[in-house]
Amino acid sequence: MTILDGNKVSSDIKLEIAKQVEAIIERGEKVPHLAAVLVGTDGASMTYVNSKVKDCKMVGFGSTLIDLPEETTEEKLLEIIHELNTDKDIDGFIVQLPLPKHIDEQKVLMAINPDKDVDGFHPMNVGRMTLDLPTFISATPFGILELLERYNVETSGKHVVVIGRSHIVGRPMSILMSQKRNAGNATVTVAHSRTRNLAEITKQADIIIAALGIPEFLTGDMVKEGVTVIDVGITRVPDDTKKRGYRLAGDVHFDSVSPKSEYITPVPGGVGPMTRAMLLKNTLLARERHIL
Ligand code: NAD
Repeated sequence: MTILDGNKVSSDIKLEIAKQVEAIIERGEKVPHLAAVLVGTDGASMTYVNSKVKDCKMVGFGSTLIDLPEETTEEKLLEIIHELNTDKDIDGFIVQLPLPKHIDEQKVLMAINPDKDVDGFHPMNVGRMTLDLPTFISATPFGILELLERYNVETSGKHVVVIGRSHIVGRPMSILMSQKRNAGNATVTVAHSRTRNLAEITKQADIIIAALGIPEFLTGDMVKEGVTVIDVGITRVPDDTKKRGYRLAGDVHFDSVSPKSEYITPVPGGVGPMTRAMLLKNTLLARERHIL
């Protein structure tokens, strides 16, 4: 069993990016700049956004955090997005989801300039991804592809079962894995909340990508020997033994699944850090596109 070490690979990627930034500075050019918009005080969102800003500093990117109160109107948020769309100093920006209920998420995502949409959520970028055209692949699927590639996990002709069909993970993952690409060329099954006899399907999988958000859902009796397992789930499970009062749990029951696995990602330290690294990669890509 080999652990797909997202901490190590993401550190490697960050070092590679930092070197590219050094070269940019040596050439006297503008460094990449990421902006992040946070609306409200959701604990997990605040943690995510702060770590994104920290990552920028680590690799030498410029970063701007736009921290807005919960009661911010949709109109005001759209106004800020418009400013970011036209601000020449900002190469890419993200609007942290979820947004407060009074704001239409789709409307906001649609307002982002697709050339600065480093989260890759704009319909134009999703369409380009689907057609296998140059785009911003959203950070979590992009991170999973990169992890599989860097560990040379064979995917061609393999049966991949993706559990979950969300717009940000399951759906793009299923499309990408079936495309003609490195870490692709797979035969893909998408399972979701209405899937019947899921264990019968997962037992046939060479690779399982679990993205459903139910802690330790996938257990050892649901997988075959030699499976590769990518655990996307991150759920805060109350835990009094921890200082912060919770632990992070993945969608995979690691203790029963890992002995049967050829490769497996841990939680934490698997897909999470890869997601962070790939947002930086997309920001670098956005900057390169803008100067071309
Ligand atoms: P979501 O709630 O939008 O989607 C969950 C999907 O799981 C749905 O498509 C649903 O049909 C499916 N599902 C629910 N119950 C099921 C069941 N019993 N059997 C089969 N399928 C079922 O969630 P999401 O945004 O895709 O996130 C999934 C998990 O991944 C969450 O824990 C989230 O926190 C985590 N996540 C992690 C990262 C990361 O960087 N590691 C990034 C995004 C999301």
